[in-house]
Amino acid sequence: MSDVESFKQLKELLVSRNHSADDIALIEKAYKFAKKTHDGQFRISGEPYIVHPVEVAKILAELEADTHTIVAAFLHDILEDTDTKPELIKEQFGDDVLNLVQGVTKLGKLKFKSKEERQAENFRRLFIAMANDIRVIFLKLADRLHNMRTLNYMSEEKQKKIAQETLDIFAPLANRLGIYKIKAELEDLSLRYLEPEKYYEIAQLVAQTKADRELTVNLLIEKISQDVKKSGINAQITGRAKHYYSIYAKMKRQNVKFDELYDITAVRVIVDTVRECYEVLGLIHSQFKPIPGRFKDYIAMPKGNMYQSLHTSVIGPRSKPLEVQIRTWEMHQVAEYGVAAHWRYKEKGSQKADNASDMKFSWMHKLVEYEKDMKNAQDFVKSVKLDLFSDQVFAFTPNGDVLDLPKDATPVDFSYRIHSDVGHKTVGALINGRIVPLNTKIQNGDIVEILTSKTPAPRLDWLTFVVTKQASQKIRQWFKKNNREEHVKLGKSNLEHELTKAVFDEYLKNGEFDGVAKTMNYQTADDLFAAVGYGETTVNKVINKLKKPVEKNPEDSFHQSGRKSSKKDIVGLEGLMYSFAMCCSPIPGEPIVGVVTRSKGVSVHRADCKTLETIPPERLMDIKWAGVNTNKTYNTTIRIETAEKMGLLKDVISAVSDNNTNIVNANIKTKNHVGIIEIGLELDNIDTLKKVIACIQSLPDVYSVKRIQTSSNMMKKNIPNKVQKPNKQKR
Ligand code: MN
Repeated sequence: MSDVESFKQLKELLVSRNHSADDIALIEKAYKFAKKTHDGQFRISGEPYIVHPVEVAKILAELEADTHTIVAAFLHDILEDTDTKPELIKEQFGDDVLNLVQGVTKLGKLKFKSKEERQAENFRRLFIAMANDIRVIFLKLADRLHNMRTLNYMSEEKQKKIAQETLDIFAPLANRLGIYKIKAELEDLSLRYLEPEKYYEIAQLVAQTKADRELTVNLLIEKISQDVKKSGINAQITGRAKHYYSIYAKMKRQNVKFDELYDITAVRVIVDTVRECYEVLGLIHSQFKPIPGRFKDYIAMPKGNMYQSLHTSVIGPRSKPLEVQIRTWEMHQVAEYGVAAHWRYKEKGSQKADNASDMKFSWMHKLVEYEKDMKNAQDFVKSVKLDLFSDQVFAFTPNGDVLDLPKDATPVDFSYRIHSDVGHKTVGALINGRIVPLNTKIQNGDIVEILTSKTPAPRLDWLTFVVTKQASQKIRQWFKKNNREEHVKLGKSNLEHELTKAVFDEYLKNGEFDGVAKTMNYQTADDLFAAVGYGETTVNKVINKLKKPVEKNPEDSFHQSGRKSSKKDIVGLEGLMYSFAMCCSPIPGEPIVGVVTRSKGVSVHRADCKTLETIPPERLMDIKWAGVNTNKTYNTTIRIETAEKMGLLKDVISAVSDNNTNIVNANIKTKNHVGIIEIGLELDNIDTLKKVIACIQSLPDVYSVKRIQTSSNMMKKNIPNKVQKPNKQKR
């Protein structure tokens, strides 16, 4: 059929369905616009391209789509296949139409790799979640339906691929939205290309047995119509074979031949009211023996896609089993058109209440009426989506697997979902090829790539942003299992720091900590200290449980009191208590200065530390490292500015690892297309640090490498209160 004839049919349909003259004019304008734009393009069938959008528009008009959806149907391939700019569509047809067209275009770019059922299900959900407007899904389904109807022009290989995708994704999607009509046609068409022999065999058998089926159904109608009339019920009773694919699926599932299938006939009874549904059920059961276990009340318990009906199977006339579905006209609309039923106006004669003015409305308008408690139709559309995919996001691995995660999930959640080993080794992430901070929230459709180090090094501060139980449990478990002694030490020293040593020792001696441990569900005081050390609980929580209120230590918090070196490491501090300043984290081999503090001995700073500028000279001490070969490791942070490029972080990480250095943490952000990577390192002395910096500096696309004075905000944000990364032994 030519597009001109086809459009004429569409117009007649629109007129018969009471679309306004203005609406029809806009639709005609879209038709002409599309025809001009696609001019010179042809489908594989040899027909002008415009035939396709017109047919898609017709499918949607039959579903009673609103005017904008039909307009968008004409334009749905324009952004992808022509040079037309989105602005032109907006100018000619407005924002709403442009959004629909862009929505379909976006979905068209999603590539599904047919795999196991779970993947398919996730993909379907991703699909709906990504279409910000449920109308976009209908556009996509109509597009697919027409492509399936014209699939015979494709190569056999393509036919099979597209048919499989239709069966895996689009038919279930139609089912999910309750559009049985489209679901059944998509399934039958898929079967025709995937299993042509089976398809034609079933089609033939259905045709051959038609007369026999009709005879049975007519006998049933004869038998019950008397009773139905007597009860004053106005019922339409029809019977027909189920669609081919459902017969095929049943044969396959039950491993039986066609003639062994007893229930390929579905009798449908449509009545006016719910009460009449149950009355008819009673009438049928009184005449024909019901088959046990087959009665289902989807009126009292509607299916998830809003489907309602009574189902039963009976031994019908001539001892033939029949499946019977009983429903109201309204339920019938929903059964055929699903969510779309809300945007259909009711068929003539099927409904008593509608007056002429009610017949004219957009589907949006109708939704409001149907969903009385919704503020407006937009809410309804949103709620349909929310119901289906309440709190999930769907993201891809670089291999194309889809993972479903809770809303607000981050790359760390993603990596623990892949495997706890991957989770523990995570140091960075790329989303859609761009480096991102680890606390970035994943959006629907994101491709997430996890960067890992050679050795596991999860971070406690991840607990502040992960949203999956899996991730937080694994992180906690890791910290529980690893470095217990250091956690105990760290927990103790954090408490000492807060309470002062004397008070802490007092509590330790009188057993107060053992008591607190019990009330907080820890076995021993050491378990409690360990929990503080790895961040399961906080210093403040413990202090609040202690009997005597304790004054907080007013001293500044720069001092890392948990790490006392043996005396001979630093010349000039013999016999004194000291600690390393956190602000600059000095490393053996570089110039250092001591600062006398009020209560914690000497604080050791780098000679170039900015903090020193504010300290009176009389508190400064002249000190130096005794040597660079200590058996300890020290923490420091470097900042690298790079081109924003995929894979660069991996190179940086391997440059670091090659130099006998541990990565404690890594944070990444981009600013004005410059990638900024901050890496916390554990190393032995200044020479190693210099080597690492030189190594990174030599990488292409690295702009600069700097050791930073103190953790920047970006880094600090990720350091939980008072919890320090334990000092690991050098490898
Ligand atoms: Mn198309």
